[in-house]
Amino acid sequence: MAIRKIARMGTPVLRKKARELSPAEITSPEIRTLIQDMFDTLNDYDGIGLAAPQVFESLALAIIHYPQDEEPKIIFNPKITVLDETLQGYWEGCLSIPELRGYVERPRKVRIDYLDQRAKPQSITVEGFPATVFQHELDHLFGVLYVDRVKNVLGGTLLSFTEEYARYHLSDEQGEDSSEQLDD
Ligand code: ZN
Repeated sequence: MAIRKIARMGTPVLRKKARELSPAEITSPEIRTLIQDMFDTLNDYDGIGLAAPQVFESLALAIIHYPQDEEPKIIFNPKITVLDETLQGYWEGCLSIPELRGYVERPRKVRIDYLDQRAKPQSITVEGFPATVFQHELDHLFGVLYVDRVKNVLGGTLLSFTEEYARYHLSDEQGEDSSEQLDD
């Protein structure tokens, strides 16, 4: 078990486009160890997703395990396709940007084509909250952070510290998703 240090916003690796891996690399012992370390780190921080650049490895690899998901997803070399451009908004958090939340709108349904940990091609379609989780996570592989996508920051209401989010904005969220917390 090895918990890795998480790169925080301002660290250059978070702004680089991550390199894709070959099938031989994906199935190598080194990458197997990295995946295990990433799960150890994700569990320790109680997050729902983690991208390799967040642990200082500029590789196109992300792991995602959100509530209600039967088993965690291990994603290599993803390609993302928007299936429904209708925007949905969630207050997002990020382990690389501690203590903050920001309201981000993203397409509500996407397909992700990727390689799994055996380097086999896979495809998954996600909508609703999981669609936001996948898009947030895969953004990390392209050097994008959710704060880049927060709108009207100068309005002062859509980027918040977590404490003030809980105090002033949590009750703004409507419906079944009001308890969802995005921290990856
Ligand atoms: Zn993140």
